[in-house]
Amino acid sequence: MRQDVAKHAKVGQGRCQACLGRCKACRGRPRTLTSMPKDVATYRKLARSYHPDVNKEPGAEQKFKDISNAYEVLSDDEKRSLYDRYGEAGLKAGPGFNDFSNPFDLFESLFEGINQGGRPSRNRAVDGQDEYYNLVLNFKEAVFGVEKEIEISRLESCGTCNGSGAKPGTNPSKCSTCGGQGQVVSSARTPLGVFQQVMTCSSCGGTGEISTPCNTCSGDGRVRRTKRISLKVPAGVDSGSRLRVRNEGNAGRRGGAPGDLFVIIEVMPDPVLKRDDTNILYTCKVSYIDAILGTTIKVPTVDGVVDLKIPAGTQPNTTLVMAKKGVPLLNKSNMRGDQLVRVQIEIPKRLSSDERKLIEELADLSKGKTASSRR
Ligand SMILES: [Zn+2]
Ligand SMILES: [Zn+2]
Repeated sequence: MRQDVAKHAKVGQGRCQACLGRCKACRGRPRTLTSMPKDVATYRKLARSYHPDVNKEPGAEQKFKDISNAYEVLSDDEKRSLYDRYGEAGLKAGPGFNDFSNPFDLFESLFEGINQGGRPSRNRAVDGQDEYYNLVLNFKEAVFGVEKEIEISRLESCGTCNGSGAKPGTNPSKCSTCGGQGQVVSSARTPLGVFQQVMTCSSCGGTGEISTPCNTCSGDGRVRRTKRISLKVPAGVDSGSRLRVRNEGNAGRRGGAPGDLFVIIEVMPDPVLKRDDTNILYTCKVSYIDAILGTTIKVPTVDGVVDLKIPAGTQPNTTLVMAKKGVPLLNKSNMRGDQLVRVQIEIPKRLSSDERKLIEELADLSKGKTASSRR
């Protein structure tokens, strides 16, 4: 709950300029987000006056965040419609909208230019990027889970320079391009108009210093290394499943956090068993005689060959259920799907003369039955 309620617009006064109608104090009024144009100029003016670099008043940072969030809502149609229907709770609860992104990121991407003084952008830590690995599993490995040792290649902090990128024993000198500021001013045409932009100096990468690069990592502070990682693949994964191994991605720069490793699963098909989510599909063939009289057949399953009873009088394309012979549920491996067996019935194209005679007798019997039932 905000403290400075008095500064907010009262009901009926129109859009609250302090929070753009987002805070609890202004919640009673119809939310004005939809009627508000995607007014970049207003947003810019507000954001500029509350940016923590400019405005040192207590509460300015919170206000800046509110404004940034409001702008983010406005600039995203899906979020806007969620907001209009459910308010802030709709954004928090909606799938894929766990939270607002960091307002500073959004802000800086749009208005890098006003970031002067205060928060220095030089020497800022940069988080490492995620790394991806494709892992191919056979059918049963995916069903029951498996432990795999994989070898990944990723950037690790350079041991020679301790990740600084500078050759050990050398002293950095001031960058001549930016005069040690780490930033250079340039004009840029953007969809929002022409901006005087303060860009990160490309000569020194924003550090303001030029160092003799480390020989091992050529100044990046990181080197590509391979690492063996043992991976527990849980039972029930399928093609497209992603496993996340935290902090095993690429190292960050200047103290940034490492990225994550994502292992993307691909499952090789089985020649006879087909997977349908947690069920396994199988098709068997039985003769018309077995279908009429009933029989027991051998059926391949992921647990090995299992007897399956074909009941007398089984109709063509019947599906028989072999309970709990399917795939364990991902993260609930005590529960399993079923194996579904579709029964195809084979009818002979040619008969021996003995067979033919018997079938004809059967036909006579069947006609007799029909005739007697008509009486
Ligand atoms: Zn190095
Ligand atoms: Zn520079």
